[in-house]
Amino acid sequence: MSPIQAVLAKLPDAKRTPQGWRAKCPGHKDTNPSLDVAEGDDGRVLLTCRAGCDSARVVDGMGLGLKNLFPPREPRRQQPTIYQIKDAQGQGCRACPRRLPRHREERSGAQEAVLET
Ligand SMILES: [Zn+2]
Repeated sequence: MSPIQAVLAKLPDAKRTPQGWRAKCPGHKDTNPSLDVAEGDDGRVLLTCRAGCDSARVVDGMGLGLKNLFPPREPRRQQPTIYQIKDAQGQGCRACPRRLPRHREERSGAQEAVLET
């Protein structure tokens, strides 16, 4: 889920505007929608409360944190490399993330490890 999707999921009343979205601000008692939501070029979410709430207060009202406004950095590198371990009969065992110190299957006599990319 991208940051803008996460934010809009918390703002069910958000309405599309030419610049982005307009919603009731969760940072204060808002009766007339005063929160502008937009997506920056880099995928970050831009929040502007016309009543003066800062971004931290707005995301707190949504139950999110400021980090939820930013896309994850280099998301592909955060994926652990997955090895598919096969036993002596060539049956695939469950894939284990590489970060495990040693595969249980290896110790119990697995014969080949195939790197799945
Ligand atoms: Zn506000």
